[in-house]
Amino acid sequence: MTSISRPEIVELLKLRGKEQREFHKRASAIRKDNITDKVYLRGLIEFSNICANDCLYCGIRKSNINIRRYGLSPDEILASADEAAEAGLTSILLQSGERRDRDFTSHLSYSLKLIKHKHPRMNITLSVGEQERGIYEEFYEQGATRYLLRIETSSESHYRKLHPEPMSFSRRVQCLNDLRDIGFQVGTGVMVNSPYQTLANLADDILFFTTLDIDMCGMGPYIPHSDTPLSGIEYLSEESLNLGLNMIAVLRTVMPDINIASTTALETLSPGGRELGLLAGANVIMPQFSPFASRTDYALYDNKPQGVRECRDFVNSVKERIEELGLVPATEDPGISMHFLRRVKDDSSR
Ligand code: SAH
Repeated sequence: MTSISRPEIVELLKLRGKEQREFHKRASAIRKDNITDKVYLRGLIEFSNICANDCLYCGIRKSNINIRRYGLSPDEILASADEAAEAGLTSILLQSGERRDRDFTSHLSYSLKLIKHKHPRMNITLSVGEQERGIYEEFYEQGATRYLLRIETSSESHYRKLHPEPMSFSRRVQCLNDLRDIGFQVGTGVMVNSPYQTLANLADDILFFTTLDIDMCGMGPYIPHSDTPLSGIEYLSEESLNLGLNMIAVLRTVMPDINIASTTALETLSPGGRELGLLAGANVIMPQFSPFASRTDYALYDNKPQGVRECRDFVNSVKERIEELGLVPATEDPGISMHFLRRVKDDSSR
């Protein structure tokens, strides 16, 4: 890990134009030197938009009555996993709104069991929010090995402005620690350029990731959703894109061997935004594998792209684009976080 100060990060985040492009090139070279030029593809299955939380920025928040709620059955989740496997992918991400009721968690455990039974080599990442430690253990036993839980912001006072009671910052951190303890590859991330956020907050976010010693990161620019309480706040999309890309490049510089996703939110702000993320040092892309009909209902923010109906076609076009960038699409390689492999080796030799 490279050490860096908060003011140094703030200066890097401010870079624009030619200096910014050069910075991204350096970050991209750091990726190549540390973890090769491979780009891993994860099939993203957004299996339910039912959510018990009321995050003030999010379109699928509990209080939004203007969206159609859906939840895929275990068989439907399996069918999406089948599609990902048929497209040659060896890794999927199951994401949903947050629910802690037993119906939900047992459905998910059963879905994991079905997937692992049919596709024993499939690597499964979960992103289903805060759960009890025992439930995380159950998911791990059923074959999920990676977990993504965004902290959203590393400042407790900023967290309070984005999340109503009873959500709590310390509970989220506790969950991240539990996940790591259980043996998951742990990912977190923040929304970039969210309301009330400062550059100093973003710099602290990077330092938070290093302190937590994360294995993976999924960060994306905040994009307003018109049915949320924060939608009226002034929003500059170009600033969001630039900061989103610079955050990737800074993180790659300080944590050279972690997996960093180039997210859909970048693509929403600018066509080709996801590719810019790769050029800034990201090494993971997550093509959509949810059933086409439910994609518009997983509306985290306005104008979220629905993707291409034929997942396989989309995978092929993504692969082509990656090659055009001079990078290597790696579908068969499960893309375990190099940082995780090194950290586990270090722990066992102690
Ligand atoms: N329930 C899961 C997944 C939630 S949705 C969990 O809690 O981890 C996944 C991510 O979408 C969230 O973590 C959040 O960072 C992002 N998101 C939500 N609303 C958004 C918005 N308006 N703009 C950009 N990203 C948003």
